[in-house]
Amino acid sequence: MLIKNGLVMDPATGRKGQWDIRVQDDKITAMGPNLAVLPGEEIIPADDCIVAPGFIDIHVHFRDPGLTHKEDLSSGSQAAAAGGFTTVVCMANTKPVMDSPELVQEFYDRAAREAVINLYTVGSVTRNLAGNELTDFVALKEAGVVGFSDDGNPVENSALMRQALEQAGKLGLPVITHCGQLSLVGDTIINEGSVARSLGLLGMPTTAEDIHVARDVLLAQLTGQHVHIQHVSSATSIAIIRAAKAQGVKVTAEATPHHFSLTDEALLTQGTNAKMNPPLRTRTHVAALCQGLADGTLDVIATDHAPHTAEEKAEGMINAPCGIIGLETALGLVWTELVRPGILTPMQALAKLTCAPAAIVGLRKGTLAVGEDADITIFDPAAEWEVQPEQFFSKSRNTPFAGWKLTGKVVTTIVGGRVVYHNGSIMANPAE
Ligand SMILES: [Zn+2]
Repeated sequence: MLIKNGLVMDPATGRKGQWDIRVQDDKITAMGPNLAVLPGEEIIPADDCIVAPGFIDIHVHFRDPGLTHKEDLSSGSQAAAAGGFTTVVCMANTKPVMDSPELVQEFYDRAAREAVINLYTVGSVTRNLAGNELTDFVALKEAGVVGFSDDGNPVENSALMRQALEQAGKLGLPVITHCGQLSLVGDTIINEGSVARSLGLLGMPTTAEDIHVARDVLLAQLTGQHVHIQHVSSATSIAIIRAAKAQGVKVTAEATPHHFSLTDEALLTQGTNAKMNPPLRTRTHVAALCQGLADGTLDVIATDHAPHTAEEKAEGMINAPCGIIGLETALGLVWTELVRPGILTPMQALAKLTCAPAAIVGLRKGTLAVGEDADITIFDPAAEWEVQPEQFFSKSRNTPFAGWKLTGKVVTTIVGGRVVYHNGSIMANPAE
């Protein structure tokens, strides 16, 4: 196929131009202005569109195995394709927990059959996410995990976290950490402050996150190994990460679209669809997130796509589970909230969705060049659209963004040289 006349942007190399891209089998075989059409070649017009490396999300929950009423490998991968994501990394808090090489092997076998995009998984840091005993990192790596994470739970035991960093570091993999000390949670996981008080609830201070971020950065410094901090929500955490990076500590960090697009005031209008872990914070923290994204303290944008049923989200502010789905709104939020206001350049934003996440989990992906995998996302940066959750490919509908008008829409998603999504439809049957 020949992708014709798009604005090609490759943040890995900084190259940009009005070029065509030729794809043969699963690879990019030519790139340049006005390539001649070969006989029988399928033309994919990309006028007025940006042609980028396929997006990579290193933080999603596909709930498979065990919680497939919320999402599964197939539906999650279709939601990802619709959002322009060609590769995602699934978290380990499935049922059973992704803590054995047999489960990881089964994940990859099923992903190859059932998913329309590239799926990877982490292994859990501790057995059954219980925080007591490390998993078998060597065996999990052999089975194909791209990192280790107890996401959903912090690893409370510092000695265990130190050992995890040492063992993962020897294998060249990151420990991916969810920071938030549970002993500081009041009634439930919402931000401690005026909104929580107006709801009559005791919340969770940013300090709960900051303590763990500081500890994990210090343990990364002590061990000389790579820690990746998930879904940063606090100004102090960002300052800690910035200072650590300046000292050469191997720390990377991510921000989610909901944390840079919303404050805790969304709880008042969106109810439990605005309940996240870590919680949505105040304007001051949102401003710090934007600064951290702009200056590179926050390396990547990840969705923390977290499907839950309407029944679960109806359980009330104290008991409802945390999290929202995010794959199908990510690009629109990045473009509307960060690029159009000038907080990030298009190239900076795309780096955080492509080459930067690929580097953190050691994948040779996220760039457009001859010889590389043909994972390509074509999007219209000026297209305006309204978020209509009933049209999502995800099995779940838990989003606070229903009705939002966003600018920036995915048109075509190509995975391994095959069009898997185009203009509202999933094209590829993974069984083919
Ligand atoms: Zn988390």
